[in-house]
Amino acid sequence: MIDNSERSENRNELSQETENLAQTLADTIQEPILVLGKKFEFLNANPGLLNLFEVADKSKLREKLDTENTFFQTLKRDLEKHGRLTAQEFNSKILNTDNRKVLVNASILENSGLVLISFKVEKVGKDDKLENFNEIFSQAPAMICILRGPEHIFDRANENYFQLVGHRDIIGKTVNEALPELEGQGFFEMLDGVYNSGEAFIGNEVPVKLDAGEGKMKNSFIDFVYQPILDSTGKVNGIFVHAVDITEKVTAKLKLEQSENELRYLIDTVPAIIWITGADGQNQYLNKNWYEFTGQNYESAKNFGWLDAVHPEDRKRVEKSFLRANNERDEFYESFRLRNKEGEYRWVLDSGSPKYNSEGEFEGMIGTVIDVHDEKLKEQLIREKEHRIRSIIEEANVATALYTGKEMKIEMANDAMINLWGKDESVIGTTLHQALPELEGQPFHDLLQEVFTTGKTYWGKEDPVDLVIDNKLQTGYFNFTYKALRDENGEIYGILNMAIDVSEMVRSKELIKDSEAKYRQMADLMPEKVLNINANGKVIYFNQGWMDYTGLNKEEFENKGLDSLIHPSEREEFEKNWRHSLQTGSDFEMEVRYLNKKGKYKWHLNRAEAIFDEHGNIQIWICTATEIQKIKAEEKRKEDFLKLVSHELKTPVTSIKGYVQLLLSLLKKKEGMPLSAIPFETSLERIDQQIVRLTRLISEMLDLSRIEKNKLVLQKETFSINELVNDTIQDINYTNTNYNIILEDDYQCDIHADKDRIGQVLINLVTNAIKYSPINQDILVSVKKAGKNKVAVSVQDSGIGIDKENLKKIFKRFYRIDFKNEDTYSGFGIGLYLANEIMKRHNGKIIVESEKGKGSLFTFIVDTAVKDQNT
Ligand code: ADP
Repeated sequence: MIDNSERSENRNELSQETENLAQTLADTIQEPILVLGKKFEFLNANPGLLNLFEVADKSKLREKLDTENTFFQTLKRDLEKHGRLTAQEFNSKILNTDNRKVLVNASILENSGLVLISFKVEKVGKDDKLENFNEIFSQAPAMICILRGPEHIFDRANENYFQLVGHRDIIGKTVNEALPELEGQGFFEMLDGVYNSGEAFIGNEVPVKLDAGEGKMKNSFIDFVYQPILDSTGKVNGIFVHAVDITEKVTAKLKLEQSENELRYLIDTVPAIIWITGADGQNQYLNKNWYEFTGQNYESAKNFGWLDAVHPEDRKRVEKSFLRANNERDEFYESFRLRNKEGEYRWVLDSGSPKYNSEGEFEGMIGTVIDVHDEKLKEQLIREKEHRIRSIIEEANVATALYTGKEMKIEMANDAMINLWGKDESVIGTTLHQALPELEGQPFHDLLQEVFTTGKTYWGKEDPVDLVIDNKLQTGYFNFTYKALRDENGEIYGILNMAIDVSEMVRSKELIKDSEAKYRQMADLMPEKVLNINANGKVIYFNQGWMDYTGLNKEEFENKGLDSLIHPSEREEFEKNWRHSLQTGSDFEMEVRYLNKKGKYKWHLNRAEAIFDEHGNIQIWICTATEIQKIKAEEKRKEDFLKLVSHELKTPVTSIKGYVQLLLSLLKKKEGMPLSAIPFETSLERIDQQIVRLTRLISEMLDLSRIEKNKLVLQKETFSINELVNDTIQDINYTNTNYNIILEDDYQCDIHADKDRIGQVLINLVTNAIKYSPINQDILVSVKKAGKNKVAVSVQDSGIGIDKENLKKIFKRFYRIDFKNEDTYSGFGIGLYLANEIMKRHNGKIIVESEKGKGSLFTFIVDTAVKDQNT
C-alpha cells in the first residue's frame, strides 16, 4: 500500500488534466473500471468497481486494493511490454471469485500515461463449474452431494455419500423418494429451511438412521453443512451438502462419558473412602463415604479439616507423614484411628500416591482410606494367640513343634523337639522337608498333608521314625499327635506336633513279647493246663495241655468253652464263684471235674489269680488247672479208711464190752450159780483176741503216722531170717488152724535188720494170703537166695489174685481193691503200704506177681547180713 505522503507527492506531480480524465473515465464507463496512475498508484474507480469489491467508497477501495501486490506488478510488467492486455483473469484474494470468474482488460492511455483496467464479471456456468465434481470430491473424506430445486433432487453425490446411503440409485430423485427412512428425523425440514431462508445450516453430532442396504438400518452420527447454492441472480436454486461421519468419535466420546460416569459412581459406591488433595496438600475432594463415615460435612473436612477426625494420639504422626509424602511426592501409608460419626474410633488404613497431570506436573495426592478395624483386632488376637502358643511350646516338657502352611514351615520347635530330631536351632524357619530330608519315603509328610486338609488329628502310637542322629540313621519309636491349628475363620493355618520318645518302652515291650512267647512255649510244654483270661472273662490264651487233655483242637476248644467241659454237678457253683472273682478280683480256687478225651471226668484243682496294672485294674487272669484225680482218690481212700478204722475200732471194743458185761452180770447173779458155770475162758479168749486185733490196729496206725512223719526208727540187729520166718508161721498156724502153711527153707542166712518190722511184714503177707484165699487154703512160704547177698522171702497163695490194673496200687496208702458185687474182705489198706515202706528203709524191696483168680506171690528181698558174706 502506498502511504499518504507519497500519494500526495504523486498527486502533486499529476496534472489536473489527468485527474479530470480519470474522473471522466470513471464517470462514463459503466462496467467496473479502475484508473491507476503511471506508477500504478490508485487514482480513481467507478461505482461498478466499488460494487464489485463490495466497498462503500473509493477511499475504502484504495485501502483494500494493494496495487503493489503480485497481480498488479505482473500486470504492470506485461503492460509495459505489450501496451495493452485483454481477458487477463483476476486472481487476487481480495475479491471473492468462488463462483464467478473476473476478467480484466487493461491499457495505458498514450497521452496521459494513465492505466485503465476494466473488470468483467463472468458468471461461472453450472456445467462448467461442476463438471469435475466427482474428480474434486471423490477423494474428499467427506460425504458430499448437491441437491437441486425446492424438492431437493439429488443432482450429484460423491462416492462416500453413495456409501452412506448404501449405493442406492438416488440421482434424479427427491430426498423424500431416495431416502424415505429420513422421514421424521428432521432432515427434510432442515433442507426446506435452508432452501427457503438461503442461510446455511450447520449440524453437529446429529444422529441419523439410514438404510444401509439389505434392510439393515444403520445408526450414525454426522457433522454436516447445508450450504445454499445461489444462481446468478442470487436466488437459491440448490443445496450443497457436506457431511462427515463422526460416529466413532461420538461413540468413543459417549463411552468416555459413560466410563466417567461409572468411575464417578464407583468412587461414590466403593466401600472405601477416596480422597484427592491439591499440590499444596489441601483437601480437594472426598467421596461421600468419608462424610458418611466421619459425619463431617464439606466445610469441616476441607483443607486440613479432615485431620480433626483422626484420634488425637495419632493426629500429629498422620499429619507429619502426609505432609512429608506430599512434599517429597512420595507414597503415603499410615494406619491410624479415625472417629466415626458415632464417636467411636476405628482403625483405618490410609494410603495415597502422588498425582501428575499430562504435562508431568505434580497435582497433589490421591488415595483411599479403608476400615481395617476388625482385621486389626483379629491380627492382635492372632498375635496374642501366637504368643500364647509360642510360650506353651517353649515351656512344654514334651517335644513340641509348630508347622505352618502347606509346605510345613517349622515356625517353632522347642529344645525337646530339636533334640529328638537330633538337629540344632537352624532348622527353625526351614520347611520340614529341608530340616529332615530323611523323612522322605516315610509316611509323615503324607500324614501332615492329610491333617492339613481334613483337620482330623492324627495320633501316632509307637510309630517307628527313622531319623539321622549323630550322622547315623536310627530308628526310634514315638507317640505323637498332629493337630490342625485354625485361625479365627476356622481356616487351617498350621499343625501342632507333640511327640514323646517311647523307644525304650517299645524295645522292652518287644523283650516282653519275646519272653511271653517263651512263656507260652513253656506253658505248652507243661502237663499243667494253663489259661489266660482277660478282665472281661474272655479266654485269650490256653496251652497245649488243654488240647491234650480234651482231645479237642484249638478251634473246637474255643467254641465249646471251658464251662461245657465241667462236670454238671460242679458247673453251677463254678460259674458262681468265677463270676464273683471276676467282679472282685479275688483269687479263685475250686476243684472241679473236667471231661477228658476218653469221656471221663477227672478232678482238677483250678486256680486263678488276677494281675493288676498300676491303677489297680485287672489286666489278666492267670489260671491253672491241675489234675488231682490221684490225690482225690487217695483222699477218698483216707476217708474210707477213717470210716473203716472207726468201724474196726468199734467192733472189738463193742465185742470186749459185751463180754465184760456178760461176765459182770453173771458174777452178780452168782448166788445159786457155781463159778465154773461162768464161761470165763472163752469170754476172756475172745476178749484177748479182740485186744490183739485192737493192738495191731493201733500199732499199724502208729506206724503209719510215724512213717508219715518220717519218724519210723529201725532197731537193727543181726538175726536168722529162717528162724524169724519159722517162728512167725508157727504163731499164725496156731490161730489159723484151717490153713496149711508150708515152709520151704532153701537158704539159711542172717540178716541185719529190725526184727520186729521184718516180722511185721511177713505177718502181713501171710495174713493177707489167708484173708484173700477163702477157698484154697494152701500157702507156701519160702526163703531163697536172691542173687548176691540177698535173700528173698515169698508168700504164695492160690486165692483170689489181683488184676493187673491194681497190682501197683496195692502198695499205696489206704488202697484197697474195690470188689464190686463180691465179698468184701476186712482191712484198712495200710498193711502193704507199711510193708513196702519198711522194706524201703531196709534197702530192700517188695514185689508181687499175681493173676486174678489164680492166687498171688508176694516176695520181699533184703540184704543178707555181712557175716553171711563169708559163708
Ligand atoms: P488190707 O488190710 O486191706 O488187707 P493191705 O495193704 O494188706 O490191706 O492189702 C491191700 C490190698 O491188697 C487188699 O485190700 C487186697 O485187696 C490186696 N491183697 C493183698 N494181699 C492179697 C493177696 N494175697 N491176694 C489177693 N489180694 C491181696
